[in-house]
Amino acid sequence: MLTATKLTKSFSGDVKAVRNVSITLQPGQIVALVGASGSGKSTLLNLLAGLTDADTGEVRFNDERVLGPSEKLVPGHESIRLVHQEYQLMPNVSVRENIAYALRFFEKNYRTFRVNELLKLCRLTDVQDRLPRQVSGGEKQRTAIARAIADKPSVLLLDEPFSHLDLPNRLLVRDLLFDLVRHQSGETPPTSCLFVTHDTTDALSIADVLGILRDGKLVQLGAPAELYHRPVSAYAARMTGPVTIVKAKYVSLFGRPVSDNPDALVCLRPEQISLSDVGTPGTVRAVYFRGSTVELDVDLSRYVSVRLFTSRSDVQVGQLVNVTLVDAPVWYLRS
Ligand code: ADP
Ligand code: MG
Repeated sequence: MLTATKLTKSFSGDVKAVRNVSITLQPGQIVALVGASGSGKSTLLNLLAGLTDADTGEVRFNDERVLGPSEKLVPGHESIRLVHQEYQLMPNVSVRENIAYALRFFEKNYRTFRVNELLKLCRLTDVQDRLPRQVSGGEKQRTAIARAIADKPSVLLLDEPFSHLDLPNRLLVRDLLFDLVRHQSGETPPTSCLFVTHDTTDALSIADVLGILRDGKLVQLGAPAELYHRPVSAYAARMTGPVTIVKAKYVSLFGRPVSDNPDALVCLRPEQISLSDVGTPGTVRAVYFRGSTVELDVDLSRYVSVRLFTSRSDVQVGQLVNVTLVDAPVWYLRS
C-alpha cells in the first residue's frame, strides 16, 4: 500500500505545485487524478515515486518511508515505477532491449522468457527489433509500460498515459492497465496503478477512485460516479464530463422551484435534459454529431444555454424545440 500524507512542494519563484495532498493507493486499485495543465500532476507523481524531495509531508510504501533523491544515492524505490509522459526510452537500442534492460539483474533464461511474455502482453512482438523512433506512438507507450512492469513492481504510476494516443491505442493501453491490475491472480500482492490525466473520458471508465487536482490541491476524491453526479465545484464538474452550469434562478425556466439562494450554481449533466413535445421552449444553437448520439446546445434565453443528448438525427441549428428536465433533484455546487 502506498500512502502519501500532506505532501507539499514549491518551486523557486513561489510556485506551489503541490499543496497538502494526502492519498492512499491500495493493492490492486486503479486511481486516476484529473487536473488541468499546471495543476501539479507530474510533480505529485515524482513525489510519490521518490524522484523529487517533498518540502513537507511524506510518502510511505507498506509503512516504510519512500526516500527522496537527497536521501538516496540512486533515486527511486524498487517497488514503484513511473512511466513518464515522454516515455524516456533508450533511443539507440531496440524495443526488445529497452524492455530487457529492466531485467538485467535477472538470470538469462528467465529474462528471455519474461521479455517474450511482455512483448506478447503489450502486443509488441512484431516490432521488437525496431528502434523506438521506428515505431508508432502507441507502440512507444506500450514499450514504456512493458519496461515499467517487467519486474512486477507493486506500484505503477503513469503520467498522462493516453494523451498522445489515437482511439484504438487508447483502448489498447486502457485494457492493458486493466488486465495488469485485475488479472494478476496468484501473484502477491497485485499491482496498483495511479495515473494522471487532463481528460476524464478514460479515467471515468477505468478508475476505482477518481481525484480532482486544482492548483496543486486535491479538491475532491471518490468513486467516479460520485464525482460525476456530485462534483464539489464548477471546476470538478467540468473535469468529469460535459455539463451545463447555471444559476439556480434559471432552473425556474424548467418550472422547478428555486433553492433559497437564487445565485447558487446548479450542475446539469446532458442526460438530465431531454427534448420533448411539451416543455421549455428553446432554439438549437449547435448540433454535434457524436456517432452513437447527437449532442445539442439549446438556448433557453439570452443567458441560458443547455447541453443535452438526443438520438434524433433530424434536429437542425436554428430549430425551435422544447426541453424538459428529468424528474429528479438537481445538484447544487458549493463553489
Ligand atoms: P501538470 O503536470 O499538472 O501540468 P506540473 O506538476 O508539471 O503540472 O507543474 C505544476 C506547477 O509547477 C506549474 O506551475 C509548473 O510551472 C511548476 N513546475 C513544475 N516543475 C517545475 C520545476 N522543475 N521548476 C519550477 N517550476 C516547476
Ligand atoms: Mg505534467
